[in-house]
Amino acid sequence: MNTDVDSRHVVVIGAGPGGYPAAFHAADLGMQVTLIDAEPNPGGVCLYRGCIPSKTLLHAAAFINEAKEIADWGISVSDPQIDLDKLRARKDAVIAKLTGGLGQLSKQRKITYLQGRATFKDGKTLTVTGGDGAAQELTFDAAIIATGSQPIHLPFAPPSERILDSTTALDLADVPDSLLLVGGGYIGLELGQVYASLGSRVTVVEMMPELLPGADAPLVRVLSAKLKKQFEAIHLETRVAAVKAGADGVEVTFEGKHEATETFDKLLIAVGRRPDTNGLGLENTGVSVDEKGFVTVDAQRRTTESAIYAVGDVAGQPMLAHKATYEGKVAAEAIAGMKTVYDPKAIPCVVFTDPEIAWCGLTEAEAKEAGREVKVTSFPWAASGRATTLGRSDGVTRLIVDPSDSNRVLGVGMAGPGAGELIAEGTLAIEMGAVADDLAWTIHPHPTLSETIMEAAESAGGHSVHYAR
Ligand code: NAD
Repeated sequence: MNTDVDSRHVVVIGAGPGGYPAAFHAADLGMQVTLIDAEPNPGGVCLYRGCIPSKTLLHAAAFINEAKEIADWGISVSDPQIDLDKLRARKDAVIAKLTGGLGQLSKQRKITYLQGRATFKDGKTLTVTGGDGAAQELTFDAAIIATGSQPIHLPFAPPSERILDSTTALDLADVPDSLLLVGGGYIGLELGQVYASLGSRVTVVEMMPELLPGADAPLVRVLSAKLKKQFEAIHLETRVAAVKAGADGVEVTFEGKHEATETFDKLLIAVGRRPDTNGLGLENTGVSVDEKGFVTVDAQRRTTESAIYAVGDVAGQPMLAHKATYEGKVAAEAIAGMKTVYDPKAIPCVVFTDPEIAWCGLTEAEAKEAGREVKVTSFPWAASGRATTLGRSDGVTRLIVDPSDSNRVLGVGMAGPGAGELIAEGTLAIEMGAVADDLAWTIHPHPTLSETIMEAAESAGGHSVHYAR
């Protein structure tokens, strides 16, 4: 670390899961830190309008579904009565608790938190404008852009009372009778399941041949089987060609595999997000962006302007909170003059539906596309004692290994409840360069779903205790 670290002033713009860890780490490394965000406390989209509120609602959805499914076990629960105001208040309380906690952590670190919007004047100076319009100028030794991303809106379906995006869908204004999800990705499926559990008839339209493009098909199949029961319809290889919002609903014209015109109470547009550099004044700096609007960064997350760094959604795919956090810590260390690099071997992806879908490292589809020879082993949860006790035999655990390199683990994929927690073991295995035998010869607790990773690894060696091919 350089000796003059203590005197360095670092400004972090955006206090989401990229910005606040960067600010906290920079403060812990001894630097003077200013953190700027439009919200009263750190948290960003993840805490205010994304991961945290959606997971709170998904927990409620899972309870509603389990209450129905437990009838098969001889336990009958009367139909849940949903108090939407109380559910919304619960979600808002979770947000307030977590963002308030981050505010405290920021104060404890003596970070100067400014509520406002930052605009670069040049590569060393920026202006912060508060909610009251008052502006102040700051100079910095280093700045970190962590401004995240915004939902993409379809030009022919601008946001309205009937046309929601992820933010307004989380407001939970009401439970529409019928809801069309435009886009069968992370947001569409997670929030679609929430609304289906609360009582909406949910339809999804996805332009690709499968839901969740990017995830391996055998994992998606497990989720699709459940969604087919919960959703009204799933239209693949279909696009929305036109939308007409009227007093009684939104008339939607589909084109592709499902040619039809249908009316829905509401639409949720979830067709991806775009990097947010709006109003940042990048044109006053040497920071360059690529053709998709992502800020160009090097392995230490430094932009093309030497004192300015960028992390998180604004700095490239995947747009995931945990990837942003990792980058934030790298940028803070780079500014402190430490030897550091953004070089993860695997980034876990989790879709928090029921069943959860989680994967990390190489997917089977990516291996095929690259013409890379891999061995894929799969352990069906029907053969797992723990899954059977939970009544969840529908899951699967898959391992993608390199047969030419001692079955080195290249990718792990899982579908089933808790997959999002279990995938951490797979990520660690890839990060540590483990081979399948390392997983097969690690004693896993019984009876747990984690044993499915051990058994999939045993299969790579040609033998799994509970699964005979
Ligand atoms: P996404 O990229 O996950 O899914 C968008 C889907 O919309 C894709 O399947 C795409 O093929 C489809 N699509 C695009 N245009 C379409 C059209 N005109 N008609 C029909 N389908 C269309 O994007 P998202 O769900 O909006 O989520 C945005 C980002 O937020 C994701 O990249 C994800 O990284 C992040 N996110 C992550 C989580 C999580 O980690 N659990 C949860 C929510 C969001």
